[in-house]
Amino acid sequence: MNAGTIVIVGAGQAGGWAATTLRERGYIGRIILLGDEAHAPYERPPLSKAVLSGSVPPESTELFSAERLAALDISFRPGIAATRLRLADKQVDTSDGGAIAYDKLILCMGGRPIVPPLPGVAWGEGAAAFTDAHGVHVLRTRDDALRLRACLGPGKHIVIVGGGWIGLEVAATARQAGTRVTVLEQADRLCARSVLPAVSAHLAAMHAAQGVDVRLGVGLRAVLREPGESQAGRPSQSQSQSRSVAELTGSHPVAELTDGQRLVADAVVLGVGLQANDTLAREAGIACQRGVLVDQYCRTSAPDVYAAGDVAVSTHAEAGGTMRLESWQNAQDQGTAAALSALGEPAPYLPTGAVWSEQYDAMVQIVGFPALAASEVLRPQTDAGALVSVALDGGGRVVAAVTVNAPRDLRQLRKWIAQRALVNPALLQRPDVPLANAEIR
Ligand SMILES: Cc1cc2nc3c(=O)[nH]c(=O)nc-3n(C[C@H](O)[C@H](O)[C@H](O)COP(=O)(O)OP(=O)(O)OC[C@H]3O[C@@H](n4cnc5c(N)ncnc54)[C@H](O)[C@@H]3O)c2cc1C
Repeated sequence: MNAGTIVIVGAGQAGGWAATTLRERGYIGRIILLGDEAHAPYERPPLSKAVLSGSVPPESTELFSAERLAALDISFRPGIAATRLRLADKQVDTSDGGAIAYDKLILCMGGRPIVPPLPGVAWGEGAAAFTDAHGVHVLRTRDDALRLRACLGPGKHIVIVGGGWIGLEVAATARQAGTRVTVLEQADRLCARSVLPAVSAHLAAMHAAQGVDVRLGVGLRAVLREPGESQAGRPSQSQSQSRSVAELTGSHPVAELTDGQRLVADAVVLGVGLQANDTLAREAGIACQRGVLVDQYCRTSAPDVYAAGDVAVSTHAEAGGTMRLESWQNAQDQGTAAALSALGEPAPYLPTGAVWSEQYDAMVQIVGFPALAASEVLRPQTDAGALVSVALDGGGRVVAAVTVNAPRDLRQLRKWIAQRALVNPALLQRPDVPLANAEIR
């Protein structure tokens, strides 16, 4: 396909890559990129790291500037949301009252933080629910990062709800800024959905060593804003807090935990997961399953409609059926793959599970899908703080790996995961045996 109109909904990582790929692959038709944020496509990983710490300006996260998009003759429309997909007419309605006809449509709407329906947490709609006055924060956009940044520093205390990647990255950045940090994790270990127990334990020890108060098996019950607001009666003072609830101005949130404790904070940060922005697609009748279902060519159930990035749920037999991956690399690669499919040059694409996280001086890298593992084998490391966890399926084949500050082993581990290599666990655990020699050929 080389003419006509391709509309991309969502100007984030996946949408930006889809748009630029189309043009760079020689597409000469119209490309319209709709983004409901005010900004040109930007990268989100720095939002919990360098942007949150203030060491780089938010503008530095820009992926494709408006000028670059214009130079590629991409019609970028910031601040304009798609409001309805009319598949039968091949049209997209937009928030400015317009309607755009398309030949191909690529859905890259990403996701939004889950807001648990707890007292004092969820009220209002969308961003309006998270204002400084209420003291409850999420972290998805540049604006979220700037709001949260103002709550960090010596003498401040933040309570992070959720010991997943976003929560832990915020914890690390906040600690480095001198903030007192409490992390609440309802499960019995950190990042339980994405790594195996030894990695969780490593992360917990790392944060504890940095002075984070990590509480496992404890969740948030409510956020109070005024003394006496609790249905449970007069607020009691938590053992670990320095100010009493009675001293509060109404602007400080008080986190009431599932174990009954109350923590006065400068901010309560929700990091309990992401919900795919699939409403438009669902309302249009496109098959969705907690995200827009796509095949390995990024095709949805509707003709000429593709999806990529955090909003897309891939059919992935090796990953146990279907999977939705929240990863920078996946957004780029799947956005590119969706563009190629829309152009009629489809190349199969399946997410590889590649994700990284930076916390303090630790670089955590995940490859493959640890959730598929039956066992975890640790390879001893000499460097303090380093870790190599190899995940094996029931047959002893490598399905995933997580490394912390051990990049040199990644190449071999990636190869093994791609080949589902059979390895000898005893040899993996012997530092005197080169990693490659642990493979059973
Ligand atoms: C704080 C943070 C830190 C992260 N750190 C890492 C990391 O270290 N490593 C890693 O691998 N991944 C990380 N990620 C994940 C990674 O950034 C995401 O996977 C990636 O941004 C997904 O890209 P996307 O384009 O699918 O979605 P997004 O980047 O969310 O873009 C979707 C865009 O579509 C817009 N949109 C939604 N609906 C509409 C509509 N109807 N009309 C128009 N526009 C719409 C949204 O507002 C948004 O701008 C991090 C994410 C966050 C939030």
